[in-house]
Amino acid sequence: TEQTLGRLAEESWERFGDYDAVFYDGAWHRRHTLAARARRVCGGFVAAGVRPGDRVAVMMATSPDVAVVYQALWAAGAVVTPIVFLVGPEELRHILADSGAVAVVTSPELVETVRLAVPDEVRIFLDTGEFGELAQAPEHGPVSVDPGDLAALMYTGGTTGRAKGVKLSHRGLWQVAKDAFAMSHQEGLNRAIVPVPLSHAYGLIITVAEMHADEPQQAVLMRWFEPKPFLALAAEQRAQFGTVVPSMIQMLLAEPLDEHPLPDLAFLTCGAAPLGRETLLEFERRMPGTQILEGYGMTETSAVTTFNPPGRRRIGSVGLPLPGYTLTIRDNSGEPVESGDIGEICIRGSSLMLGYWGGLSSPIVDGELRTGDIGCLDDDGYLYVVDRKKDLIIRGGFNVFPRDVEDTLNRHPDVVMSGVVGRPDPRHGEEVVAFVQLRPGAELAEEELIGWVRDRVGRVKYPREVHFVDTIPVTSVLKIDRKELRGRL
Ligand code: ATP
Ligand code: MG
Repeated sequence: TEQTLGRLAEESWERFGDYDAVFYDGAWHRRHTLAARARRVCGGFVAAGVRPGDRVAVMMATSPDVAVVYQALWAAGAVVTPIVFLVGPEELRHILADSGAVAVVTSPELVETVRLAVPDEVRIFLDTGEFGELAQAPEHGPVSVDPGDLAALMYTGGTTGRAKGVKLSHRGLWQVAKDAFAMSHQEGLNRAIVPVPLSHAYGLIITVAEMHADEPQQAVLMRWFEPKPFLALAAEQRAQFGTVVPSMIQMLLAEPLDEHPLPDLAFLTCGAAPLGRETLLEFERRMPGTQILEGYGMTETSAVTTFNPPGRRRIGSVGLPLPGYTLTIRDNSGEPVESGDIGEICIRGSSLMLGYWGGLSSPIVDGELRTGDIGCLDDDGYLYVVDRKKDLIIRGGFNVFPRDVEDTLNRHPDVVMSGVVGRPDPRHGEEVVAFVQLRPGAELAEEELIGWVRDRVGRVKYPREVHFVDTIPVTSVLKIDRKELRGRL
């Protein structure tokens, strides 16, 4: 039966209260300890004047308290606005002003950034471990809210422009978390290592997903991801699966993986940005026994849209839609294309966002979300993501997808990372330009790299210009920042 997230958490925490739920900072924490803290923190929020419908921003380093705060806010009927810790003052100021958040909950190491960005009237609650004052309040149980009410106002990654506030209901998040859990769960595998930030769409859905389990789930949390500590912690705590993003896989590949076998780790779920096929294969070659299961999602679909079920995955695909979603690939005139043909990915389903915050025009037309992503479906309904529509380069009438060129560049042994953009060009309409970060100490001539790509992608799609840079700019969620690169042309 459909519930609000506050009640879902209460029930799950009551059922599995006696189990060790979270490993963090060297110790296991029981669920009922966290549940009791959430009820007191809820009382603290209510005493501080937080009312149903109020937006409260949560910009915290990962700890069990992030889930405590989510639970406390939902129990108070408030709307959670998670903000990832890498967000800088300017983006933070935009999110706080746009959302009208009445308060920000943060951690000691982030409080300086938060202070620089918040207006005076916005309260700051500092999580010093046990929440001090906030947790002194009398316990407060879930207030009654409707499943259709807002549970989260979540901001998009800001990859293509300013971050947009996405209105998500209890019902939508509840359903997506339930389906995502069912699709990824394998019997007997209940211990996850979670290095992705909990104060983010991906992390939030993980905290809700495990509440749907009928076996007690255990999460091994990392405050920040770093490759060596990740490998050590996964081995020490015998994690059976994990939740990562592509940049973490990249960082792990720079480590001597054969010295860190993880025989218990059956799979890693991976999403949020493109993961090259070669990268996946290399990782699995060097970490035998661990499969990468890719998924695709966006804030507008309550974070998850498709996933590769264990045992039925297809490499290179981002998987099958969650049962509540239907995918259609449409051409520029809005007509569905044949399977195998590319077009815009369009999504229908009951867990789509309620709309953007602040009156921004909605990309949902007649109940269907126009994602702005280009992709195709195979005959069995597996989705393949090609690139973003906005990033398409049209050179001399030919479509060039930057990701194809980047994947090819990244396969060169001296290349760490690359970003490809189009520059307006009087002769060809647009010209393909690459920015490339080389491995430290590597020396490579522009002509040589251009030739290398041309030999692999043919005479149309290769970059005509390569700029070597120290680092490829990334957004606060570590996606390649192509708009910043375009600004450099
Ligand atoms: P903004 O909408 O503000 O420009 P954003 O689209 O990056 O930012 P999110 O909602 O966090 O914000 O990200 C969703 C997007 O991320 C998708 O539309 C898609 O372009 C990309 N994405 C997510 N998962 C994958 C994946 N597995 N492979 C390729 N791209 C992905
Ligand atoms: Mg987007």
